[in-house]
Amino acid sequence: MFTCTTNSPEETAHLAELVGQKIREGTVLCLEGDLGAGKTLFVQSLAHTLGVEGEVTSPTFNLMNVYEGICHFALYRLETEEELEDIGFYEYTEDPEGIVVIEWSDKFPQCMPEERVVVRIEKSDDGDGRHITFASVGERYQEFIKELESFVYLSH
Ligand code: ADP
Ligand code: MG
Repeated sequence: MFTCTTNSPEETAHLAELVGQKIREGTVLCLEGDLGAGKTLFVQSLAHTLGVEGEVTSPTFNLMNVYEGICHFALYRLETEEELEDIGFYEYTEDPEGIVVIEWSDKFPQCMPEERVVVRIEKSDDGDGRHITFASVGERYQEFIKELESFVYLSH
């Protein structure tokens, strides 16, 4: 587990770009943090780094957007965990082909894949600062988190 501090939206976007350079196919990445923390900004930069062209928006009404190689969920408006089945959540997360990004994953932690990368964005006391923590839940992504930590520090 490690934490980075960013001081502007651009710095958060750059950090997400570094993640995009290192992330592997089949990774499930959960994004936690309050409204306005910077989750969507993070996904946008990650998706563009992975080659998604055009606009990346938070799937507010349809709950899920699928781009080439990346599937983006935002569970903010989901009321019950049964709805996850209705939107095909498990088909995408159980054996993901590309990258799966899930905003508001902490609403239904018990329904998330046992092995996942968790990125938690927290506002710091001064307005534009963010503390961004990367962690692996389960064994699978522990090595990835370590590699990412070195990569991020070397890229500063
Ligand atoms: P969320 O999806 O978590 O609700 P958004 O990504 O939609 O949040 O919005 C984050 C907002 O915070 C943007 O308007 C962005 O410009 C602003 N912001 C200010 N400082 C930062 C920072 N360091 N990192 C990310 N976003 C920041
Ligand atoms: Mg959002």
